[in-house]
Order: sequence, then structure tokens, then C-alpha cells
Amino acid sequence: MYLCAMLENKNQSRTSLSELGEFGLIDHLTSGFKNKQSTTVHGIGDDAAVLGGIKNQLLVTTDLLVEGVHFDLGYMPLKHLGYKAIVVNLSDVYAMNGEAKQVTVSIAVSNRFTLEALEELYAGISLACEMYNVDLIGGDTTSSKTGLLISVTAIGEAKKENVTYRNGAKEGDLLVVTGDLGAAYLGLQVLEREKQVFAVNPNEQPDLEKYSYLIERQLKPEARQDIPDLLEKLGVKPTSMIDISDGLSSEILHLCKQSEVGCNLYEDKIPLDPQVISTCEEFELNSTTIALSGGEDYELLFTVAQEDFPKIKANPSLSVIGHMTAKNEGVNLITRANQKIELTAQGWNPLKD
Ligand code: ADP
Ligand code: MG
Repeated sequence: MYLCAMLENKNQSRTSLSELGEFGLIDHLTSGFKNKQSTTVHGIGDDAAVLGGIKNQLLVTTDLLVEGVHFDLGYMPLKHLGYKAIVVNLSDVYAMNGEAKQVTVSIAVSNRFTLEALEELYAGISLACEMYNVDLIGGDTTSSKTGLLISVTAIGEAKKENVTYRNGAKEGDLLVVTGDLGAAYLGLQVLEREKQVFAVNPNEQPDLEKYSYLIERQLKPEARQDIPDLLEKLGVKPTSMIDISDGLSSEILHLCKQSEVGCNLYEDKIPLDPQVISTCEEFELNSTTIALSGGEDYELLFTVAQEDFPKIKANPSLSVIGHMTAKNEGVNLITRANQKIELTAQGWNPLKD
């Protein structure tokens, strides 16, 4: 694929993992990593990494990714997978309004993977660590009977007064989302369709240019590292925050449930990229349904007090999409036709597989 060219690197030789042994392998994969964070006292190489000099509260988050469940190597190149595995974890740190500093990466691999395949995976991990300025400080390596399993732990920090939980939203607060929604899900739909076309006719050269943004959002998602910084500069402390991994609808429900409030979300305020709108038309999908239920956008969703509206209203990264209500008013979508429809975790018109 000519998209995401930065991540492309096809290595043709095939070295069996058993040729290096476990220690040789770990060394080979991790020797290029340099620590940059002042709080990393000691990284890879001993029984445990050592962190020090931390003045703030620590944030720790883990994700486990399993081949065939969370990713399909049929259209996810290993370098992209490595990049994404890091990014989705960092997103959870940013969703606490913190800064990510370190990661650990643990992998289980079957012998169907070659050294070159793992080099690709670690090239993606390395690129993400560089882009987001985090140190790889350890992990574990073991074998699996089938497939690949990756577990990433991210460590971050935030000033005590800045840490933002899911449970702080108040009635009357504004609901704000960063970026735009639905593109990552549509990118997956495009890739799945191309995979099927390719299976039927391997000579078909797909023109994916008009879906470039969607595919990039699926294969190379970015986490909103900029937002905790931006909020600090704007002088805004969100009352609650979550990252959008499962779809807008389910994340709003999480905030409402934990904060014990209701919400009115306005359909016409949901930010959509033009490629999302045109591809929804082509695939005969409802763009609101996609934004509500699509998932994997890794944007941040948060609430702010109404008096903070002047501080955020002109910012191109931030869209006010609704407001929080009393709990007994429920969680609703206000449609373009001004109808009120209760939101469910699947959105309001569940996606059918
Ligand atoms: P132990 O036997 O104590 O678990 P290992 O030999 O597994 O130690 O690991 C040696 C060093 O390499 C440790 O610092 C560990 O954190 C690091 N490490 C092991 N596997 C990985 C990996 N997949 N990615 C990054 N670091 C790793
Ligand atoms: Mg180990």
C-alpha cells in the first residue's frame, strides 16, 4: 500500500527466532532504544526498571492485544501494529489529563514469526516512542502456540490538581470532543472490502486515494498528546474525561453513569471529516451511526463548566457537541429533526455485523 509511506519497510530475508535465543532476541530488538525521560533512572536490562524524581501523581494503564481478536495481520502491517499498540495506551494516559513518560511491551509469539517480522513490529514501537517522547523501559518475551499477543503498559504523570476522572461531570457542563469521529471504523470497512476484492482478483490495483484519511486513521491512529497541554494553556480544567476507543455513544454513557448525570448530544454538532461523509454516502451508511458506534478514533471526550465556554469556543481542535443534564432526563441524541432519541451503547441504530 502506498499510504502511510513512512511506515513501509518490506524486509525480504527470513531468520528463524530460534537462531537468536530469547536473550539474543530481546537484545536485538531493544538495543536501538535510547531513554530520554529524566524520570527513567534505569530502563531495559535488569530485573526491574527504576523510575525516580517523580513529583506528580503516577498514571498506569495496560492493554492486551490478541491476534484474531483485536487485529488481523492480513491488512495490518506489523510496523503499524507496533505503532498502534503504543498509541492506544498513551491515549489512556492523555485521557486522565496527564503526560505519558514510559512504556513496557510484552509479547508472546509463535514460531511462524521471523526475526524480520519482529523487527518490523519494534520499528513501529520505536517510531511511536519517538513521536510521543516516551521511553521503552522493559517488557517480557515468551512463546505462544499460535499467533501473536502484545501487552503494553504505559506510565505517565499529572499534577494532582489536573488528574481528570470519568466521574466529575456536573449538570449544566458542556460536552466537548476533539478532532472528528467515525473515520477509523470506515477505514476498516474500506480495508475489509479491498481484502475481499483482492481475494477474488489479485491483479486488481485498488485506488485508495480517496479513502486515505480513513485508512490512515485505522492503521496509524494518533493519540491526543496535545490536549492536556492545550487545556492547561487555555486555563481549562475538564470536569471529566475519557478517550474514544469504543465509539462516542458508549463513552458518553460511561461518563454519564460514573458522574450520575444525563446528557443531550446534538446530532448536527458531531464533527465529521468530508471523507467520512462521502464514504458513508457511497457505502449507504448513516454517518451519525458511524460516529456514535464506530470506535477506535482515539479522540478525547470531556466536560467543562459552562463558564469555560469562551476559552474553548474558537479552538479548531474542540467541538462542543452537547451538555450534561439531570440524571433522570436520561442520555439522549437530539436529531437534526429535533427528535429526542435515547442513546444506547450501540448508538441509536445499532450497527449490524
Ligand atoms: P526476567 O527473566 O527478569 O523476566 P528478561 O530476560 O525477560 O528478564 O528481560 C531482560 C530485560 O529485557 C528486562 O529489562 C526486561 O524488562 C526486558 N525485556 C524483555 N522482553 C522485552 C520486550 N519484549 N520488550 C522490551 N523489553 C523487554
Ligand atoms: Mg522476562
